[in-house]
Amino acid sequence: MVANPFDLKGRTAVVTGANTGIGQAIAVALAGAGASIVAVGRSSMDETEALVKQAGSRLHVVKADLGTIEPVKGIVEETIKTFGGLDILVNNAGIIRRADALDFTEEDWDAVIDVNLKTAFFLSQAAGRHMVDKGRGKIINIASLLSFQGGIRIPSYTASKSGLAGLTKLLACEWAGKGVNVNAIAPGYFVTNNTTALREDADRNAAILARIPAGRWGTPDELGGAAVFLASSASDYVHGTVLPVDGGWLAR
Ligand code: NAP
Repeated sequence: MVANPFDLKGRTAVVTGANTGIGQAIAVALAGAGASIVAVGRSSMDETEALVKQAGSRLHVVKADLGTIEPVKGIVEETIKTFGGLDILVNNAGIIRRADALDFTEEDWDAVIDVNLKTAFFLSQAAGRHMVDKGRGKIINIASLLSFQGGIRIPSYTASKSGLAGLTKLLACEWAGKGVNVNAIAPGYFVTNNTTALREDADRNAAILARIPAGRWGTPDELGGAAVFLASSASDYVHGTVLPVDGGWLAR
């Protein structure tokens, strides 16, 4: 065991969707623990870059639309070329579409499954080839309470996040013996763009708050500790787990 098992100095972390919300908070937390960050996404990373620098680390941007798997090989190649390796992958980018199951469209099904599940798998595959070769690596999938529960009016989101939990376990079974840890974090209800509609619906907001034992929504920085743990040698014997960070929601 190293002196500080949470130390990420000398490590490189790829974080998808790092421009805002949970991805940004995780990028900043990993940077604070010493990791160099490769921020992948389609929007400006200027704010994240400033926060990563404030945290004492460096950031490289890879512009990519993760609605297709076309960019995945390039993301891994550019990361290795820029920082000399790829030690940590955080599959965070994700979208949600809301409609009753009776009315749900194929477009809303495909769009969500493509970003949340298909790209997450093929980016893990591309990163995993490098990590397995090196005999070391950490992959963290951003799952959801909908990896455990059904939810309502979000059929493709629930399918994608339940699928991501399954994939986390499958990849852990294949790669645990090769030195690569694959785990997931299941955030509960966090204040981000993804949950604006829920927070603006007074009835849903009140119902959600009444069910959270902690009695409040989470803020994205509260996921940083779990991400640093799963990215660091502190979690070297943790494989295939989906770790809820949910204010106690699932305990209820
Ligand atoms: P968010 O603020 O909406 O962030 C979503 C991120 O994904 C953004 O960076 C977004 O980029 C990126 N993204 C979406 N589609 C993309 C595409 N085609 N190509 C590249 N990037 C794309 O929401 P968030 O809450 O932080 O969500 C982050 C992750 O946490 C998601 O996987 C979400 O399902 C999960 N999650 C969130 C909660 C919660 O309570 N907030 C709970 C459970 C799980 P743009 O800004 O460019 O769109």
